[in-house]
Amino acid sequence: MRASELRSAWTNFFVERGHTAVPSSSLIPTHPSAPMFTNSGMMQFVPYFLGEEPVPFDPRRATSVQRCVRAGGKHNDLDAIGRSLRHLSFFEMLGNFSFGDYFKAEAIPWAWEMVTEVLGIDGDRVWVTVHESDDEAEDIWADAVGVPRDRIQRLGKDNFWEMGETGPCGPSSELFFDFGPEWGPDGGPANPAAEERYVEFYNNVFPQYFRRADGSLTDLENRGIDVGAGLERILGVLAGSPSLYVADSLATLVDEAQGVTGHRLGESDLGDIALRLLADHTRTMTFLIADGVIPSNEDRGYVLRRIIRRAIRFAYLLDVETPVCPPLVERCIDVMGDDYPEIVNGRDLVLGIVSREEDRFRQTLRTGSQTLDTELDKLDEGGTLPGAVAFQLHDTYGFPLEVTQEVAELRGFGVDRPGFEAAMTEQRERAKAGRKGGGAASEDAMAEYQRILAEHGPTVFTGREEESTTA
Ligand code: ATP
Ligand code: MG
Ligand code: MG
Ligand code: MG
Repeated sequence: MRASELRSAWTNFFVERGHTAVPSSSLIPTHPSAPMFTNSGMMQFVPYFLGEEPVPFDPRRATSVQRCVRAGGKHNDLDAIGRSLRHLSFFEMLGNFSFGDYFKAEAIPWAWEMVTEVLGIDGDRVWVTVHESDDEAEDIWADAVGVPRDRIQRLGKDNFWEMGETGPCGPSSELFFDFGPEWGPDGGPANPAAEERYVEFYNNVFPQYFRRADGSLTDLENRGIDVGAGLERILGVLAGSPSLYVADSLATLVDEAQGVTGHRLGESDLGDIALRLLADHTRTMTFLIADGVIPSNEDRGYVLRRIIRRAIRFAYLLDVETPVCPPLVERCIDVMGDDYPEIVNGRDLVLGIVSREEDRFRQTLRTGSQTLDTELDKLDEGGTLPGAVAFQLHDTYGFPLEVTQEVAELRGFGVDRPGFEAAMTEQRERAKAGRKGGGAASEDAMAEYQRILAEHGPTVFTGREEESTTA
């Protein structure tokens, strides 16, 4: 099944059941309780759950296909990207919602009908989890739907969903697909060692509380239903693959990444991670910029900058000299533009921004790499790069510590990380003293300036305007 078919199958099913189809909202959420990025379908509906705005749907139901980014805050999957086969930093969430209307007795059988009849997934390979306190949900799954009780498991905090540090939340009930013994031990989703085998693809949340900033819970004005099902996870299940990179736009982007890097999946671990990461990060940067995020040194812009740089970093590790972001972004717009006109409209903006970021960061990488190579040449075999040198690369050229480590490792060297941290702390203290003190510290700063000038000449520092805590 293609993504576009799945989106319409989902939407039609819920529209036939009285839901209003609502378009995806921006990745930049508006509600004060929201985290940095839209990370789930329910986020645009928060005011309805809270009773802050009248529910404009009659009946009080909605369905959506929401673009989501999980790259910051409570749901942050960024570190797993490329390594995890089932986590993306950008993905689409299929949803159906009730705001004080239907509840578990309708939502649970509909979920089963959707999964087994509309999507044709083999129900015998689906496992269910419910919250440890939720007899009601378990009974509906067992008695009304007919799922055998030995495939229904009770979990604690994994079956309590929260939007962010604050916001609506509640117990949940999830569906997992069993990819079979070649993917791990049995025992169902309750077995943490089997998470590659039982892949979660569908979450029924029963929002009933609001988490306040002090951690306490209050009751929601409109409790109801909040379903979030991963579009790419379902495409994976339908394709018989626990890897989401078989889903159409991702498969196309992996292919494009192969073309751009000259590496192919299956050649090496680093290559596989890089190809998947390039495919994933391309979608994330494209959609974030189209939704109005600009690379910067703080907040959302900083996360975006890290994502762009991480993609370039991995291409760089594969020795790719030519720009990778622009061709990948073009391809992303080609394959997803029909479904998301905002990226077509934003094409020039997105391409302009990624090209500029890539040019600047590549310059940083080049200058830093030369210095790093010279320093590594000085070491004995298997030696360790002093922390002070790693710090200088970071501080003067904006050369990320992770890159230093990766390059050093590829050549069989280590990096003195505690030494790096110490140099960093020392510099912070000096800066603090400088801000407080005046005289002596500014002389220090002046001496440091003279030293840099002597070492590098009065040229423009390409590394200087890069952020100092790079990804
Ligand atoms: P996981 O436990 O696999 O990290 P989750 O419990 O964090 O997933 P939910 O917050 O319940 O996910 O989100 C609802 C659905 O969205 C999930 O059941 C899954 O299908 C999908 N999903 C969540 N995170 C991702 C991701 N990083 N990439 C792709 N799909 C995701
Ligand atoms: Mg998660
Ligand atoms: Mg989960
Ligand atoms: Mg979940």
